[in-house]
Amino acid sequence: MDEYDDAPRYENNLVSVLSDMRKLHEISTSLISENHINQLYNDIVGAAVTLLGSDMGSLQLLIPERDELLLLASRGFAPRSASFWKRVTAHSGSVCGRALSLGTRVITPDVEQCDFINGGDIEVFRWSAIRAVQTTPLITRGGKVVGMISTHWKKVHRPSEHRLHLLDILARQAADLIERRTAEEALRESEERLRSAVVAAELGTFIWDLENDEVKPDDRMLYLFGVPKSASDMAAALRSTLHPDDLDRYLNAIDEASKAETPKFIQEDIRIQLPNGSQRWLAFHAQVHTSAKTGKAARMAGCVIDITGRKTLEQQKNEFIEMVSHELKTPATGIKAYGQLLQDRFLHNDPETNLRLIAKQNKLTNRLINLLNRLLDSTRVVDGSLKPHLEKADINVLIREYVDDLQSLTQNHQLNFRAAEKQIVLVDKEQIGQVLTNLISNAIKYSPEGGDINITSETTNDGQCMVSIADTGIGIDDSEKKKIFERFFRKNNDSTRSSTGVGLGLYICDAIIRQHGGEIGVKSQAGKGSVFYFLLPHHEAAIVNMAKPSDNDSESPPEQRLA
Ligand code: ADP
Repeated sequence: MDEYDDAPRYENNLVSVLSDMRKLHEISTSLISENHINQLYNDIVGAAVTLLGSDMGSLQLLIPERDELLLLASRGFAPRSASFWKRVTAHSGSVCGRALSLGTRVITPDVEQCDFINGGDIEVFRWSAIRAVQTTPLITRGGKVVGMISTHWKKVHRPSEHRLHLLDILARQAADLIERRTAEEALRESEERLRSAVVAAELGTFIWDLENDEVKPDDRMLYLFGVPKSASDMAAALRSTLHPDDLDRYLNAIDEASKAETPKFIQEDIRIQLPNGSQRWLAFHAQVHTSAKTGKAARMAGCVIDITGRKTLEQQKNEFIEMVSHELKTPATGIKAYGQLLQDRFLHNDPETNLRLIAKQNKLTNRLINLLNRLLDSTRVVDGSLKPHLEKADINVLIREYVDDLQSLTQNHQLNFRAAEKQIVLVDKEQIGQVLTNLISNAIKYSPEGGDINITSETTNDGQCMVSIADTGIGIDDSEKKKIFERFFRKNNDSTRSSTGVGLGLYICDAIIRQHGGEIGVKSQAGKGSVFYFLLPHHEAAIVNMAKPSDNDSESPPEQRLA
């Protein structure tokens, strides 16, 4: 304890107190100007060690929800001690735990003589060479405990009242600083989280002053609405992009929200008319705040999300269900009708008519089965289970089989097949047959006037097998060339709309050809016919074999021939 009972000593003490106060002032100034939070914690520990003349020091933050002290910074601690005291609870037998449970400073001049320190802590004190400890709670101006500051000595020691008083001044300042910095840190973190979420979810955000009709959109919102940053009346510019059918619904939603006494949420799916004439679907989410003074809607803040993809899919799905229901209904109704007819006919015992009716019924049943198979195939394409069973085949033989079969389906069209040379490929015959059937049936279906359909097979310059199917039918617009390979795509106002088809054929063909390591495409001009083609890699061994002049070498296995 410091004594002030004679003049020279008093003077000395005064000098020492003044120097301490100056030191404290310097410490305070440097703490306030420290911006980096971890450096701040280290500086606080350093200041406590200096003020109390201790050998070590530590700073802990209180985690109120767990009633736990978390070690933020330490000085002079061995890593092992720092890790032992990383987290301390109020009920542990440690000095800081006790200070936390009592809510006051705890001084332990000699840890060996202390009755509350438990065995584990004593052990750590011993190998850390700590003999004396003091722990002071960090209490803010508002009376909140935010952590603990402790100092440690290697020898038995009791700090003087004067030094403890200085520590209290430091502790108060440190508590306030920590409270402010942790709040700032939490704010910064939540801002960062929000900003990342906004960017990751590609949200457009805005704040709309409804009283003055002034809006502050961010860049993403401007992009989604297709409105330039320079628009003079931003609110009007944004509103003018709304689809007329959605504008009233949107304005009504704001009107409704403004009548509510508590802040109200608006959630509307709206359509935006973009400058290039296309449409974009946006999910509009906002919260409307009512002014306490006027009782009217004052401010709206929220975000917009591009949901065009989801809406298109929904629309395609609905169209698809409608189409499939129609497709299934037609043959099913026919099958039922023929069944009834047959029932009547059997009564009249007319075998010839009965056979004819059964044949028609079977044809319709096949149509149903084909449709169901296509649906199944399309789901297999999506889940990746449409795996080909590859075998060596001459593509020309395969094409010839299918051309002959398909020719019987039409009298208006002439199917011509021209093959340049023998082409051995490694394919799933069934699946490639399905592709040929689809492409040739489409050529027939989309050439309602009839005409030639030319099928060719040749080897490309880079050694691939190319099969093309050329028709002189309705052709395809440039804008639709990519889309026709998408699932459920069917052309709008298709003149052949009444014909069967659900927009799955080309999607499945594309999946099959890609599974074979090939590529499918189309060259076409609206009104002038189309050429659908697919490329398949040649079977390597077969290419080498084809280069040989001998004709009867097909008997020996390819490996032998390669050798
Ligand atoms: P669909 O069952 O509707 O025929 P596809 O996937 O086979 O389904 O074809 C998708 C769309 O591509 C068709 O609806 C049609 O508009 C277009 N299409 C396909 N083949 C041709 C073709 N040879 N000529 C013109 N348009 C075609």
